[in-house]
Amino acid sequence: MKQTADVVIAGGGCMGCSVAWHLAQRGITNVVLIEREAQLGTGSTGKNAGGFRHQFSNSANIQLSIESITLMKHFEAIVGSPIDFHQHGYLFLLSTSANVETFRTNVALQQQHGVDVRFVSHDDARELSPGLDLTGVKAATYCPADGVADPNGVTMGFAKAAQAKGVEIIRDCEVTGATLQGHRVAEVRTSNGVISTPIFINAGGPWAKSIGRFLGVDVPVEPERRHIFIASPPGGGSWDDAQNAGRVPTSKILVIDFESTFYFHREGGGLLFGMGDPTEQPGFDITVRWDFLPKVIEVAIQRLPALADAAVSHAWAGLYEMTPDHNPIIGPSNDVEGFYTIAGFSGHGFQHSPAAGRILADVIAGIDPKFDLTPFELDRFTNRSTTGEGNIV
Ligand SMILES: Cc1cc2nc3c(=O)[nH]c(=O)nc-3n(C[C@H](O)[C@H](O)[C@H](O)COP(=O)(O)OP(=O)(O)OC[C@H]3O[C@@H](n4cnc5c(N)ncnc54)[C@H](O)[C@@H]3O)c2cc1C
Repeated sequence: MKQTADVVIAGGGCMGCSVAWHLAQRGITNVVLIEREAQLGTGSTGKNAGGFRHQFSNSANIQLSIESITLMKHFEAIVGSPIDFHQHGYLFLLSTSANVETFRTNVALQQQHGVDVRFVSHDDARELSPGLDLTGVKAATYCPADGVADPNGVTMGFAKAAQAKGVEIIRDCEVTGATLQGHRVAEVRTSNGVISTPIFINAGGPWAKSIGRFLGVDVPVEPERRHIFIASPPGGGSWDDAQNAGRVPTSKILVIDFESTFYFHREGGGLLFGMGDPTEQPGFDITVRWDFLPKVIEVAIQRLPALADAAVSHAWAGLYEMTPDHNPIIGPSNDVEGFYTIAGFSGHGFQHSPAAGRILADVIAGIDPKFDLTPFELDRFTNRSTTGEGNIV
């Protein structure tokens, strides 16, 4: 491992790897990325549902989506690896008048940004996603340019391309502290030794708070467990088998029942689904709570009756990385010179990693990022209030 670097990154999830590649693209290659685990992308990134969408409530997030999805669409040509990219759309189902009104505002905002998004009829929703029960649904929104891609492909794609340009990636190595010279970053301490560096990036995902503590900086990111379940059709086989026709979508459309947060999309021959648990408390435990499954199924079968007799063959839990306003933190600390954060994406970070990494790399390289970072600044939590993200699943 190098003993001096221009930049040290803590965390080898999609954020750390994206910023590493974007730095290398700008000619900053004397970079060391440190990952505690034996493999990259095994934190939140390795647990996620792979969804990407333009359907956010906050202008800044819509902009992150537009840029990120454009890069993902051309990922293989630009970065060099395939990412199993599918634009089959997101369908939001809304059952309260209040949420219909909120989504009217959101859809208008998304359209102002040039996004092809619209309200669709119940018949259209059923055609887009066969097998839906729309009882009680007042409205639905659809954006055909939303979709799903492979988080591991994106992370490893950025990592391999960054390495090819000279970035050093060290796995099985923990960042354990940092040393300041006055108010400046001077060294990053790791389980493999010390690296002298003027720039330290916190890409620690749900662990970002503990990395901030090394420098006495409060990074308000809390971990929150979320489950994903995989369902096979009754008797096994694939949902594409003839006897299951019309019970679930054949496309990879991602459907979200907004009020309950139940969502699903096709994953290979199976069906991936999840739902937030409003009683979940912050914590790092990612044990699968099988006693939660019946609660999810109870809600899920009201929207997708096919799940009533499905076999749940597999499940895992991972951590959302929640900030108080559900917007990420991207940019420098005002208290410690040379300390930057790219974390706290509150459950929608995979899809924003391409643009977020580009923006932070520009800031570090001294290039105008052409992006108003005000809603994502670290000091917003202490100095002022901002409009957060309301479209959280
Ligand atoms: C169940 C679930 C479903 C999701 N679905 C979606 C989705 O559909 N779409 C979407 O966009 N997002 C989704 N997300 C959110 C998304 O996964 C995260 O926002 C994103 O992966 C965050 O990436 P990251 O790089 O910031 O964090 P991580 O992937 O967690 O990476 C942080 C890394 O830092 C390392 N680390 C921590 N501390 C140290 C240290 N001291 N030293 C060295 N290394 C350290 C960790 O080991 C980890 O690998 C989902 C998340 C979950 C849990």
